Amino acid sequence: MTVMERLLAPDSPFQTRFYFLAKRFVPGETVESALDAVRKLNADGLTATLDFLGEDVTDIREAEQTRDAYHAMLDAIRQSGLRTNVSVKLTALGLLVDENVCAEFLAGIVEHAASLDDSFVRIDMEGSAVTSATLAVFERVYARHKNVGPVLQAYLRRTPTDVERAIELGARVRLCKGAYREPEDVAFADMPTIRKAFARSAEALLLAGNYPAIATHDDRLIDAVRAFTAEHGIANDRFEFQMLYGVRPDKQRELARAGYNVRVYVPFGTHWAGYFYRRLTERKENVYFVLRSLITR
Ligand SMILES: Cc1cc2nc3c(=O)[nH]c(=O)nc-3n(C[C@H](O)[C@H](O)[C@H](O)COP(=O)(O)OP(=O)(O)OC[C@H]3O[C@@H](n4cnc5c(N)ncnc54)[C@H](O)[C@@H]3O)c2cc1C
Repeated sequence: MTVMERLLAPDSPFQTRFYFLAKRFVPGETVESALDAVRKLNADGLTATLDFLGEDVTDIREAEQTRDAYHAMLDAIRQSGLRTNVSVKLTALGLLVDENVCAEFLAGIVEHAASLDDSFVRIDMEGSAVTSATLAVFERVYARHKNVGPVLQAYLRRTPTDVERAIELGARVRLCKGAYREPEDVAFADMPTIRKAFARSAEALLLAGNYPAIATHDDRLIDAVRAFTAEHGIANDRFEFQMLYGVRPDKQRELARAGYNVRVYVPFGTHWAGYFYRRLTERKENVYFVLRSLITR
């Protein structure tokens, strides 16, 4: 374990005392604080997807707590009238404990979400050890409910096949680069190759997929998607851009003003360490930002 991993372990005192460091990326620890953030995003013409932070639960009781938190969140969204849907990690719903129970919990959330204006439930994608299991649970639930869709990670070598399958199913996909440390035989490691793979999958989804979400802050990919959709007459309401809360907020608003659908991923909850760690390790600018907030506090 590195020093950073030790500091960010769920039982570390760092987590409880140093939430202020994560605040740029995680607007709050309660659903009310997350909904406040969504209210501001909606006012700026952006939609959202709310994620109750947590992952890798090893006890079915913790998975039940996650399930219950999602049901409470869906009720709170309906009452608020805000424009947001939800994203969920299957390892937080017990995928590592019991795949059948996880599928049952997910189906319950998807059924409950069906009564909302934005009824879609996004399944976040985690490390490659659970890619197949995540997609298997997705397909089981999708067979009965169409308001659910997976994330596919462009850095994985398997992803073109998964993109083809999603297109065949008519499933809504969020395409991202991928945020987990993966072995070389499983995932590309260099950015030019990942960008090329992202662009190829994005093009396939834009041409034949069902309302794909292009999730990136990378100007080269955003510009390529804008050029590709203009060239192929793909209207702005056939796809959306997605970005993370606290990352490039000006770009999010610029795209919305230019007439694109933009959805912001808003994570909340007390289990922010794993998410925060991935944001720190993917860009050194994020580390500088956090160090600055320590000095200027
Ligand atoms: C909505 C959303 C959902 C996601 N869901 C998942 C998921 O389920 N599973 C998963 O594994 N990963 C997920 N990710 C994370 C994703 O896989 C990447 O790790 C993350 O988005 C970083 O890659 P990037 O393409 O955004 O840009 P990066 O690779 O971080 O940066 C590439 C380029 O983008 C530009 N750029 C980026 N940030 C800035 C900035 N702050 N200011 C100026 N320029 C900038 C720069 O030109 C930079 O060189 C998600 C990402 C998003 C946006």
